[in-house]
Amino acid sequence: MLLVFGFSAVFRTVSEGTFHCPRCGGDRAYRRRAGRRYATLFFVPAVPLNRLGEAVQCRSCRTRFGPSVLRVPTARQMAAALPAGMRAAAGLVLRAGNPAHPGARARAVEIVRGYGEDGYDDDAVEADLVLRASFLEQEVARAGAQLAVEAREWFLAQAVRIGLADGPLGERERRAAHRVAELLGLSPAHALGVILTTEGAAR
Ligand SMILES: [Zn+2]
Repeated sequence: MLLVFGFSAVFRTVSEGTFHCPRCGGDRAYRRRAGRRYATLFFVPAVPLNRLGEAVQCRSCRTRFGPSVLRVPTARQMAAALPAGMRAAAGLVLRAGNPAHPGARARAVEIVRGYGEDGYDDDAVEADLVLRASFLEQEVARAGAQLAVEAREWFLAQAVRIGLADGPLGERERRAAHRVAELLGLSPAHALGVILTTEGAAR
């Protein structure tokens, strides 16, 4: 009897989700698959051999990538990072000034809504005021990483406008604005320019 031996790779799906496909350039469904090489007998996988590692496959264009592709944020995550970042910046600036000031809170609401978070309201302001500074700072940095320099300047100017709503910037508010700038990746000189310009425009 003639035995037919061979080798084949068998992949099984270990997880599924949405990722940013670098090939077709958008948020796409993916399958994460783990492969294993088998020795086959009459073309049927019979003996498991070495593992082949994992691959992430785009369900639209079928391209396979290494698992590290999942580190890139999706467009949806990026869009969510921006209002979350402005919300966090508002929290940092408000509590450096007078967080009870109605005008300052109203301006925070207006600006965060302008960044796309329609449901943001005075209750949300209140809730954000008790969040840990380290968490808020991380959210600002995450938003900053998505923005071009001009958009970072605009972001900082909006944060400064929140600080200015209850009157001229106090020392703590000024420090909070500089901290926001630092988290956004702006240099101290650059930050100073944006802050002074925004203060000038408010006078
Ligand atoms: Zn694709």
